[in-house]
Amino acid sequence: MEKKIKAIATILGISIIALIAVIVFKYNKLNDNTVPNSPTPAVTDTSTPEPSATVTPVVSESPTPTPDAGTEPGNNLVIRTDYEAFKPNESGDIPIVMFHRFIEAYEPNTEKEYTTTFAEFEALLQTLYDQGYRLISMRDFIDCNISVPAGTMPMVFTFDDGTAGQFNLIRENGVLKVNPKSAVGIMIEFNKKYPDFGLKGIFYVNMDIGDNTFKGEGTLRERFEILEDLGFEIGTHTWGHVDYHKITTAEAVQESIGKNQEKAEEILPGLRFYSFALPFGHRPKNESLWTYLKEGTYNGINYNHESIMAVGAEPSVPSISKKYNSSYVRRIRAQGRVPVDCDLTWWLPKMTPARMFVSDGDPTTIVVPKDKRDKIDESKLNGKTLIEY
Ligand SMILES: [Zn+2]
Repeated sequence: MEKKIKAIATILGISIIALIAVIVFKYNKLNDNTVPNSPTPAVTDTSTPEPSATVTPVVSESPTPTPDAGTEPGNNLVIRTDYEAFKPNESGDIPIVMFHRFIEAYEPNTEKEYTTTFAEFEALLQTLYDQGYRLISMRDFIDCNISVPAGTMPMVFTFDDGTAGQFNLIRENGVLKVNPKSAVGIMIEFNKKYPDFGLKGIFYVNMDIGDNTFKGEGTLRERFEILEDLGFEIGTHTWGHVDYHKITTAEAVQESIGKNQEKAEEILPGLRFYSFALPFGHRPKNESLWTYLKEGTYNGINYNHESIMAVGAEPSVPSISKKYNSSYVRRIRAQGRVPVDCDLTWWLPKMTPARMFVSDGDPTTIVVPKDKRDKIDESKLNGKTLIEY
């Protein structure tokens, strides 16, 4: 009898100790946010890279992403509110990278500055991923609708001229598929390994070259459809790759843009361009014509561009910045065969997290350090909540 009582007492004692331990553990976890040195393990996906060297324990407010999350937009949301720990800055710069040609290997007469090999492109994706960059679409850049994981930095890919190395289709057993030896093919493979990198980018096309755009198998319409189905976007680069330094009339500006829009819709009904890349980065010398780059009419077709892309030579401010000018958005050119000042390779070591847009993971909030609040144009927030810390 006495033994039995002793045994029950022992079990009770152990239970109480266990209960206390659980309560203490839970209490610590709740306070993890405010106790930077808490030994509690991180709760969120540890694969989220930190752009800064100081790695702090992480508390995720969203469900921990599953390893295969990220194949659908929005599935890879990792939101954090421990701002002091990882220093988000949604007033910082966003690099918009400009690509032109991709080839298998350089030859002695290969153009020097705008050509990249497939191998270099693949290595570049890895570098960008490792440094904490994640791709967003032009649409989301324009809307500042940034849903890359907390602590990572958004980046935009743009491709000019519709070259085959960027994207083309091949036929295998009668079925159209993306050529793995193309920038898009390489991005598709890369995203199988790193689905949170993002399969995003915009292709600026010249409809006057017809079937030479993304030259390969399939019709032009099929190429556009497959590109859009993959989640990419199509923008305008004028009919005829016009050099606006040589254009002197409103009619000529509107024709170069309106005709490209007209033909695009003929090829793929419903295709409307909302972003425009200036060929050569040139604008008409007569500034009174600039308004027609944004809006105009040709042959009964109206056009309206929400972003007009320049050529050089630095990361862009975000669209919610007081400094943002949607009529002349800066891009950085990818490194070609020969590195030059202000190309992406030149910029990468200069694009420190202190300078760049570092996301909090939540597209509905704009989070900035107190001393950067002034950079935000509150009239551009469009329903987003501005948070300073
Ligand atoms: Zn071009």
